[in-house]
Amino acid sequence: MKESYPHPAQIEIDLVQFKKNVSLVKQYLGETKFCLPVKANAYGHGLIEMSKAAEEAGVDMLAVAHLHEGMMLRRSGIKVPILVLGAFHEDQVLDLIQYDLQFTISSRYKADLVHARHGSEKKKCLVHLELDTGMQRTGVRESSLPHLYQHVKSLSCFDVVGIYSHLAVADEKEHPFNEEQQNRFQEVMNHPLFKGEPLLWHIANSSGIVNFPNLHLQMARPALITFGYVPEHLKEKFPGIKPCFSLKSRIAYFKVVEEGEGISYGHTYHTKSETRIITIPVGYGDGFRRALSNCGSILHRGKRYPIVGAICMDQFMCDIGSNEAYVGDEVVLIGCQGAEEIQMEEIASLCDTIPYEILCQFNERIPRVYLR
Ligand SMILES: *Cc1c(COP(=O)(O)O)cnc(C)c1O
Repeated sequence: MKESYPHPAQIEIDLVQFKKNVSLVKQYLGETKFCLPVKANAYGHGLIEMSKAAEEAGVDMLAVAHLHEGMMLRRSGIKVPILVLGAFHEDQVLDLIQYDLQFTISSRYKADLVHARHGSEKKKCLVHLELDTGMQRTGVRESSLPHLYQHVKSLSCFDVVGIYSHLAVADEKEHPFNEEQQNRFQEVMNHPLFKGEPLLWHIANSSGIVNFPNLHLQMARPALITFGYVPEHLKEKFPGIKPCFSLKSRIAYFKVVEEGEGISYGHTYHTKSETRIITIPVGYGDGFRRALSNCGSILHRGKRYPIVGAICMDQFMCDIGSNEAYVGDEVVLIGCQGAEEIQMEEIASLCDTIPYEILCQFNERIPRVYLR
């Protein structure tokens, strides 16, 4: 752990592991181009640092949800192509062009707006058309895509780089809707209009690339797996891919508490006998979920201890029984210590959510420390 410790907790990001993940995913994709989504602060890991590392490790493209994220990347000196996946407003068009961002056209209406705004700009807009194959989120349906393509091609401000869609149930390999979406996408790909056109067709996210190798196509967009989260049953297939995110803190307080004492707000936990209670200076104000009250754990000296009582905004308590601990000792809230590990998946399951949401919730209050 670093000498200087500005906040009583820190998120450690192992960039060496992250770059290894990037290389392994890249290797797995082979000829397929690798577009890494880094939206939502690179899944909580830190937008700029992760994007720089990804660029160094050789991704072909980065994807963000919004213009603002793309602007931050360009301002930080990122050179690789960046695709803005989300919808944009009319008044953002010039920034999209000036910041060299590729963006998504999901309607004729938006294409016309861009064309009108483009004016005398010399630079062309590099765009991807979005096809909705069944997510019902954004994008045009199969029957409209060829018309949209022809229309966009007819407007001088555009260069169409790719056509993409998104899978709704890719994490359920056996779900019949995967095939349906695949068929709808394939049907459009086979349209004579696109014959010989050098387009990047892309549809697969992390679950897509692992469950449907036939959907790698010209480009794929796997993020979660690149950050190191591989579904349990596939861990053997991707042995080198590991999380690069850990959350660590230090014991802020130690005390002995008698039997039958209530702990924290609401006294939702009572000590069963005289015991030792440690206080950890992390709370839901940092993004450490209150749902972990009375069910989460921490690691101290390689051993697991239960979180007891309600998690407060800035602190929570753990019961360490008769074990020894000192103020200042390191504790691990997420990640490995010795032979023990608290996995993101475990926390997500205790909070009745998915690892994506847990990752995104850690806010800027906890500093990210990058290990190179
Ligand atoms: C976020 C996102 C991805 C990445 O999904 P993972 O499951 O993290 O791989 C891919 N495509 C789109 C359109 C996304 O919004």
